[in-house]
Amino acid sequence: MKRLLFTLCAVSLVAISLSAQPPIRVMLLDGEMNPYHRWDLTSPVLKKILDEPGKFSVDVVTAPPQDSAMGSFMPKFSDYQVIVLNYDVPAGRWGDALKKSFEQYMTNGGGLVVIHAANNSFPEWKEYNTMIGVGGWRNRNEASGPYWYYKDNKLVSDPKPGNAGSHGNRIPFPMKVVDPNHPITKGLPPIWMHQSDELYAQLRGPGNNMTVLVTAYSDPANRGTGYDEPQLMVLNYGKGRIFHYAPGHDVAAMSSVDYVVLLQRGTEWAATGKVTQKVPDDFPTPKSVAYRVDISKMDPGPAAPRPAVRAANK
Ligand code: ZN
Repeated sequence: MKRLLFTLCAVSLVAISLSAQPPIRVMLLDGEMNPYHRWDLTSPVLKKILDEPGKFSVDVVTAPPQDSAMGSFMPKFSDYQVIVLNYDVPAGRWGDALKKSFEQYMTNGGGLVVIHAANNSFPEWKEYNTMIGVGGWRNRNEASGPYWYYKDNKLVSDPKPGNAGSHGNRIPFPMKVVDPNHPITKGLPPIWMHQSDELYAQLRGPGNNMTVLVTAYSDPANRGTGYDEPQLMVLNYGKGRIFHYAPGHDVAAMSSVDYVVLLQRGTEWAATGKVTQKVPDDFPTPKSVAYRVDISKMDPGPAAPRPAVRAANK
């Protein structure tokens, strides 16, 4: 009996100490509107997803959309363990001081999560492209680095000339784990169906220190390349960790259960280097998608009006 009581006490002490873990401090950074990516709609979804496990404390920081107001924009990155970028930034928007501050943050061991079109950002910023490994659009081409894709189950870097970035229509597609031993992918099924999304292809960049975790087949029948294209990647920059998460075009894509789970796992890993969360039972299978109704309901539909601040940014 004594032993049982002792065990119970020990278990509750462990439980208390676990629940007393301070939350991981997350900056969700957005603020640049373009015709394609509605951060005003997707940031509330990302925040909801990160709030759910009770592990993260999320502050949303919205950058001013105009160049004229950027001079005073200097968020304190070092107050956070990880920056989640839902932010598609054109060339030249950030000044040198802001860029240096972010480079310093990452060099010193910061965390970065790159959401979908955040890999279109900053084509001119060499260090950012080193952090994200590959990117698309905004005049990226062979000067940005080779194409990276999987052919015959091997990662290939292809220097042939051409523009970076393409995708077909938004349809469901299978995701395939190529590195099952990383903390983010450990315990996931080897293949699952992802809810309808843009499958990014033809990404190019330096690809330094890049480990591809998950790929998806870019089907020529849907304007694809015929290759398995990298979708989830991890990288290091100095002491910093980067989780590059290429899916997630809109609210519908983000409602996919795998999207929710991998955002939570990838953000924890980028912040701490570990993943302590379990893969839930409703994770999608190789045959069928699974999506969260409470999140898909957050999509107001294509006719949703833009707030005035976004109209001013055209
Ligand atoms: Zn998109």
